[in-house]
Amino acid sequence: MPAFPGPETTVRAFFAEALALEGAIEKSLGTRWKPLFRAIRRQLAGLRFSDDDSEAAFYIDPVTDEFVFFTAGFYLLRSAMFEVFGSDIEPALIRTFLEVAYVSYALHEVFHPEQGLAEFSVVQDHKNIPSGFDEIGKMDHCADNAAISLTAAVQAARLGNLDRGSYLRRFRDVAYLVNRSAPLAFGVKDSALHKQKRRLVNWLCFERVDDGLRSGSIPELELAVGPLDAPMWMHFNIGTGDVVLWEQEPMHRVLGTARVRPGTLRRALAFREEMDRGELMAPIRALLRAMRIDSASIKIESHEQVSPTQAS
Ligand SMILES: [Zn+2]
Repeated sequence: MPAFPGPETTVRAFFAEALALEGAIEKSLGTRWKPLFRAIRRQLAGLRFSDDDSEAAFYIDPVTDEFVFFTAGFYLLRSAMFEVFGSDIEPALIRTFLEVAYVSYALHEVFHPEQGLAEFSVVQDHKNIPSGFDEIGKMDHCADNAAISLTAAVQAARLGNLDRGSYLRRFRDVAYLVNRSAPLAFGVKDSALHKQKRRLVNWLCFERVDDGLRSGSIPELELAVGPLDAPMWMHFNIGTGDVVLWEQEPMHRVLGTARVRPGTLRRALAFREEMDRGELMAPIRALLRAMRIDSASIKIESHEQVSPTQAS
């Protein structure tokens, strides 16, 4: 296998490229990445990479204020990508996969300080509060969404086509790579409900864009239902199958409520990234069907009928 650039070279080059494309991206796709561009601009000058062992993904040097990545996470993600997609593929494809792995991870992490998560202790503070875990899951989904969407925007700009359709096709592909490999790299315990939710919502977001792209005119669809790539969040009662789903941006808007069979919900929460594409997407699509969601418009029309004997 030929040698490929490592995380540091890749991330530095991508950050510089993204800043150079900021004006073009905003002109065509809007200003939603302002906080992420601000983060890149703030961190790029003092960016450092450390091979030290750490539980954390990064720290901000208290003396120099520099953003320091611990590199272990990049390598975990690289291994997961090879595990899912194999290493016996075209070098050009490997190059793209590795870039997506490294930059999506880096963008996710530099976004966290913009969300107020500059120190690991703030995460711990959340975990002292029962509902705080859910907020961590929600913030992580927002950081995933920001990272995936900017990676996609830069890819679309490289191809010289920044219309919504071209951007959303890149979004779908980047989301697929990240959604398949990140949970495998970092693990999602069955006991960590907020992490399961983050994974599921990331897949719902992918499915919404994928379905939208297959369903026809993107401008008309987005005019009717809002941006297809908007971050979402959900709450559910695993015992009864009650689900609420909403988008987080541009405003906190309910997309729907439903009651599904608890088994449908459990299967959608418990799939494994090692599955092939069809197996993997089946529980997600089943959940959307059960919620009677037209995934492109993500509008829930009515509730799945659940009799007491089915509620298991
Ligand atoms: Zn995170």
